[in-house]
Amino acid sequence: MTSSTARRPTVLISGASRGLGAELARIYAADGWRVLACARGSVSRTGEADRFQLDVADPASIEALGKALAGVAIDVLINNAAVRGDTGGLSTLEADDFLDVMRVNALAPLLMTRALLANLKDGKRRIVVNISSRAGSLAEGTLDDDDGDYAYRCSKAALNMATVKLAQDLKGDGISVLSLHPGWVKTDMGGSDAVVSVADSAAGLKAIIDRADLAASGSFHAYDGRRISW
Ligand code: NDP
Repeated sequence: MTSSTARRPTVLISGASRGLGAELARIYAADGWRVLACARGSVSRTGEADRFQLDVADPASIEALGKALAGVAIDVLINNAAVRGDTGGLSTLEADDFLDVMRVNALAPLLMTRALLANLKDGKRRIVVNISSRAGSLAEGTLDDDDGDYAYRCSKAALNMATVKLAQDLKGDGISVLSLHPGWVKTDMGGSDAVVSVADSAAGLKAIIDRADLAASGSFHAYDGRRISW
């Protein structure tokens, strides 16, 4: 096989329309990766990327993506799409909002991993990245943060268990599963007071993913490499 026919490493990113997902798509493409950029609407700022329609809140959309990508090897799956939901605390907690957040932030990464499992097994790196949040850490999430985002915190705590359970189940297939916290990032979700640029966060996350191996599976780290307690 010549270098011109060698398969490029491939990353699939959900929520690539804006924010961190768009920047991750951009830097992976700039590094020579094939990028499968998924979004429920239009995808911008992704450079050279293959674009796919994906609403992670809809299991049928996830299944359709899996079918459309049959036979395509995927090295890294980044479950990035997420919503914040209500932030008003216990008094404004609302059942439908809570369940919508759980569906997107906690359930969808599991359905995505299942739908793309054969693709990951065909890949060389075999890594699933769940973009989590320190806000979902039982040990650290409330240390310096009293936001009343019950749904979001609970969804990211559930996502962290999904990481640990998937790491256990997929170890035999040589697939590593990570929870990564991107920092408090200047995006629509993070807001203008956030302290980390999208570029720094994405670069830090990519560096961690680049060096991840099976020994790192089932771990929780921040974009700057710091280990986060569950
Ligand atoms: P943004 O709100 O800026 O972007 C969210 C992305 O998720 C958008 O692309 C949005 O698409 C997509 N998305 C939401 N719902 C769906 C859906 N049903 N189907 C497909 N795509 C969907 O968030 P960030 O970029 O800041 O967040 C990226 C990740 O980082 C998330 O997992 C978030 O929880 C995490 N995080 C962010 C922090 C921060 O400070 N920003 C802190 C800690 C964690 P659309 O354009 O269609 O709405």
